[in-house]
Order: sequence, then C-alpha cells, then structure tokens
Amino acid sequence: MTIVAVFNQKGGVGKTTTALNLLAGIAKRGRRPLGIDLDPQAHLSHVFGVQPRLADDTVFGFFARQRPLAEIATISQSGVAICPAHMELAKLDAMLGKGVNVVTRLRHALRAPDAMPGPVVIDCCPLLNVLSLNAIFACDVVLVPVSADYLALQGAKEVERALNALEPVFKQRLPRRYLITRFDMRRKMSAEVMAEVNEVFRPDEVLVTRIRENVKLAESPAEGLDVFRHAPDSRGAHDYATLIDELVGAGFIR
Ligand code: ADP
Ligand code: MG
Repeated sequence: MTIVAVFNQKGGVGKTTTALNLLAGIAKRGRRPLGIDLDPQAHLSHVFGVQPRLADDTVFGFFARQRPLAEIATISQSGVAICPAHMELAKLDAMLGKGVNVVTRLRHALRAPDAMPGPVVIDCCPLLNVLSLNAIFACDVVLVPVSADYLALQGAKEVERALNALEPVFKQRLPRRYLITRFDMRRKMSAEVMAEVNEVFRPDEVLVTRIRENVKLAESPAEGLDVFRHAPDSRGAHDYATLIDELVGAGFIR
C-alpha cells in the first residue's frame, strides 16, 4: 500500500485534476484505490458524484467525531472508494488545533491493520492547515503539482521549505516529487518555469513525466468524469497514464 498526498500551497495548479486521474487510472488497472478529499471545496468528491449533505458523513465526521474511514467511504461508478469532503472541514483548524495527536490521526487510521489495502491518494487544499498536515504525516510521498506559472512555482518552494522544516520531526528527508502540469511548449513561460524547477529542486525529486495543457482534462470534471472515461485517446489520458507508470516504477504506487 502506498499513500500519495497531492499538495501545493497554491490553488489552481492541478492538485484535484491529478488526484482524480491518478485514482481513476489506478482503478482502471484493476485495483481499488482510496481517495480522500481534504479540501472544503470538495471538488474531488463532486466529480466522483459523492456529496453527502451531512458533514458527519464526510471526513469531517472522521476528524470531529472519530468515525471510521470505512464508514464514510463510498464506492464511485469508476470503482474508486472515496471519503468525501464537506464545507464544514474549514472549521477543523479552530476545533482541533495542531497537536501531535491531531496531525497524526489520518496516519494512524490509514496504517491500522484493518485499513484498506489499496493505494491511497489524498487531495489537499492550498493551505498548510491541520488537514494538509494530516496528509503530510500520513503519506509515503508528497506529490507537488507545479503548473507552468510563477505563482505555482512560489507555492512549490513554500512546500519544499515546509517539508524541510518538518524533517527533524520525521528524522529523515520526507519523500517528495515535483510534477510539472499545464505544460505548453509554445509558451515561453512554460520553458522558463521548467528550467527553474530543475534548478531549485533536487533533480531526482522532479518527475520526468510532464502533464501537458489539454482541454480534455479541464472538460472532464464538468461531465463528472475522469479523463480516461471522457477522452481515452487524449494527451491528458496519455500523460496521466505515463505518470502512473513512473510512480509505479519508483515504488510509490504498489
Ligand atoms: P487545484 O486542485 O490545484 O486547485 P485543479 O486541478 O482544480 O487545481 O485545476 C485548476 C484548473 O485548471 C481547473 O479548471 C482544471 O480543469 C484546469 N487544469 C488542470 N490541469 C490542466 C491541464 N493539464 N490542462 C488544462 N487544464 C487543466
Ligand atoms: Mg483542488
């Protein structure tokens, strides 16, 4: 089992798009992955068609009422188990604080002997809040999408600093991989951002796969679909399949 946390402190960089298509692509290969939506905006839950009315039936219930994840998880049409988010998640920082017991709660649940055996993908919100800390403490690797623009790069540098600051707690370098998204060869800025990504981050921590700008990736959520079902022959489907191959090859998806 592997746990991937998709995180960048900047919004709109492709976190949810990446979480969605990783989950769908893994399910397509015959596994049952678990998706955990930790963004109060609940975009991932929405695309999977899972939107409980009651906050207690979402990950809010897990954090605020100690409900088991298995009770909250719903199986989507595409064969993904999804623990949905709710707007109320935004209140958890004030409710729970950031104590050690609080930030390791998801880790304990996902690593319990009776936890689901499949790969886990966590979609984070763009803040280093109690939920993102839970994702970072729980995961085997932090996957940082960097859309080809400067604010996304700034966000990624903040993630790098935050992960480095946590290193004394983990007593090791936290595994992380930077993923260039919305890459467009025709745009000068794409080439510039890519060059800077390769300069500021460790070369072995930048994924070879790049997700290209592709309208099918942007269209599919509106249809409630992942890119593999919406446009299986698109560049978007190709790039996310290649990303899964690379993560499998690196042992991050088992
Ligand atoms: P985040 O979760 O980081 O806020 P999203 O995954 O929601 O980002 O993506 C932000 C916007 O960019 C969405 O409208 C999404 O459809 C679009 N998008 C993401 N990746 C791509 C891509 N490779 N090509 C085209 N549009 C993309
Ligand atoms: Mg998102």
